[in-house]
Amino acid sequence: SFRALMVTKTDDGQSAEIKDITDADLMEGDVTVAVSHSTVNYKDGLALTGTAPILRASPMIPGIDFAGEVISSDHADWKAGDKVVLNGYGVGEGHSGGYAQRARVKGDWLVKLPDAFSTADAMAIGTAGYTAMLCVLALEKHGVGPKDGDILVTGANGGVGSVAIALLAKLGYRPVASTGRPEEADYLKALGAVDVIDRKEFSEPGRPIGKERWAGAVDAVGSTTLANVIAQTSYGGTVAACGLAGGADLPSSVYPFILRGVTLCGIDSVMAPRGIREEAWSRLARDLDLDKLNSMTNTIGLDGVIGAASDIIAGKVRGRLIVDVNA
Ligand code: NAP
Repeated sequence: SFRALMVTKTDDGQSAEIKDITDADLMEGDVTVAVSHSTVNYKDGLALTGTAPILRASPMIPGIDFAGEVISSDHADWKAGDKVVLNGYGVGEGHSGGYAQRARVKGDWLVKLPDAFSTADAMAIGTAGYTAMLCVLALEKHGVGPKDGDILVTGANGGVGSVAIALLAKLGYRPVASTGRPEEADYLKALGAVDVIDRKEFSEPGRPIGKERWAGAVDAVGSTTLANVIAQTSYGGTVAACGLAGGADLPSSVYPFILRGVTLCGIDSVMAPRGIREEAWSRLARDLDLDKLNSMTNTIGLDGVIGAASDIIAGKVRGRLIVDVNA
């Protein structure tokens, strides 16, 4: 048997408990993985607190990502001993996920762990960091270069934001951090932010089109913040939108698009095809400074996951949280 954090739906919500379970309690799949690390992302926070209806099975093991070693495989691409990473595909939503010492999934969902990373590094990056890389790739693919001007990163102290700042700085861009925690300015500057600004600048409804301030942006916040960011994006600039930490609405207008040729680029990590996943992970191996990654990471055990879920929804987590499922 092995340990797992199981969530069961109840009449008045859901309850979570760390239990000893067996392979028979896992869901269908052709690859069984000895999980070494998982993480707590914002979506895990939504799932575990029940803030949004993320969990679609009961009982099940949450955890939208994990890294570990293949124990057994009926899939042509994988064999026992392979080191693998999983992000998304509905794992930790409709299929049991990373908060256990074992996972059974479809081999098609797995990506090879890059040689540059340990399983702990891969989960320090996690879905948040892999999504930050997808955002940076989107800016590159839309022709936003390091010399074009400042890049705004919203939700800067969070997982996506922290990794995005480190990546952009390494690539020679000038990331500007927008945060509600200005007391973390030293941390953000150490990651590579050229400037730190108060997120209040973006939280009130603004003009449909404003002063051109950003060559591009990585937005983890959504809502009025995203609308203001789009309105301040320079001619021909691109905004990579990946999050909803501030809300899921988008009170914007068409003006930035039809007067300035601004591109709003949607970023999805969950169903992203294999090619872009592999590109993102190999670029993370090349472009993410491991010292910076360590500086943004804290490690907890399975018994710390529930508390961490409330903290991340309350906006109290800085950077990334690794879950060592064997701790
Ligand atoms: P996180 O670590 O909690 O970061 C979110 C950050 O947003 C917080 O640290 C905070 O930064 C800021 N924030 C929180 N509440 C806010 C509010 N009410 N108004 C304005 N800013 C607020 O979460 P994460 O794991 O990095 O994820 C960030 C977002 O991206 C989430 O919405 C998540 O669901 C989304 N996401 C999407 C994908 C995808 O596939 N599209 C993948 C991963 C994540 P400051 O304290 O610095 O202000």
